[in-house]
Amino acid sequence: MSIYDVTIIGGGPAGLAAGIYASRAALKTVLIEKGMPGGLAASTEMIENYPGFAEGIGGPELMMQMDAQARGFGLEVQSANAESIIEGEGYFTVITDDGEIKTKTIILTTGAQSQKLDIPGEAKFHGRGVSYCATCDGAFFKGKEVAVVGGGDAAVEEALYLTKFASRVHLIHRRDELRATKILQQRAQVNEQIVFHWSNIVEEIRGEQTVQEILLKNVVTGQTSSLKVDGVFAYVGTRPVSEIVSGLIQLNPKGYIVTDDEMHTSKPGIFAAGDIRQKLLRQVVTAVADGAIAAVAAEKYIEQ
Ligand code: NAP
Repeated sequence: MSIYDVTIIGGGPAGLAAGIYASRAALKTVLIEKGMPGGLAASTEMIENYPGFAEGIGGPELMMQMDAQARGFGLEVQSANAESIIEGEGYFTVITDDGEIKTKTIILTTGAQSQKLDIPGEAKFHGRGVSYCATCDGAFFKGKEVAVVGGGDAAVEEALYLTKFASRVHLIHRRDELRATKILQQRAQVNEQIVFHWSNIVEEIRGEQTVQEILLKNVVTGQTSSLKVDGVFAYVGTRPVSEIVSGLIQLNPKGYIVTDDEMHTSKPGIFAAGDIRQKLLRQVVTAVADGAIAAVAAEKYIEQ
């Protein structure tokens, strides 16, 4: 029976960093990724705060480099969807839609997904005006008006990015104060193409073939209004992708995996790294650090 030392589930920054460290340590390592490697970072146009790149670096470029670096150290990458984990005697079996993998350790780096707005019209117009990725879809809205929903770093950063294409970007936030870091707030506030709609929520997305308008509700006055836009970009946070281990390891009430400082989960032999962890700061810089630590911790676990 061929058995891997390390199986990494998820190919974002944490998974690729774990892959670099584990492969470089000559551990027999496979990374399972259901889509394109790179995770959410690959859909970020510009990453300004990853140390070492004074001018910033494009998210896709940074992630392509990490992917090439990991493969260069011998990381095997399998394109598959990991569906479940079964515990055996001294090993685990990861069941995928393409077969099964036996492994001594698992590093979970499944990250987080965009949170949906859960409002009428959202699913109907997904891909026809509703998007969760400005980098992917922004160019379709040249000269048009779009709405961005949310008030965090992602919403403000992507609203700024969309001003390259859209004639006007309506930023709709449910409070009267942004959550985003000050530098992003300041940039948005001086950008004349961004119009703020404070204390408003989107109640419905309407249109015929594509998005034509959104229905807003002011949460202070209760007043409703409609706004003509061609696109809606939702950036209302993320949710953890931890279903594969629910019931197997400890999750916090929001579904994030609880680990110690060495990325051990509550199940010996299973580690977690990156956005999927319960942690203070979800950024590329913390994800890669987690991935490196998880790989070293997995190596120690195997040695013992
Ligand atoms: P976030 O920080 O959790 O912000 C989510 C925003 O959406 C908040 O402003 C929240 O409002 C709002 N919101 C949540 N649910 C909503 C709903 N149902 N309807 C309307 N609004 C809703 O999420 P994020 O911006 O995606 O960022 C996630 C993580 O990635 C953060 O740690 C962030 O720092 C990081 N990130 C960093 C950068 C960067 O450093 N450049 C870029 C992108 C992301 P309230 O404020 O009222 O809660």
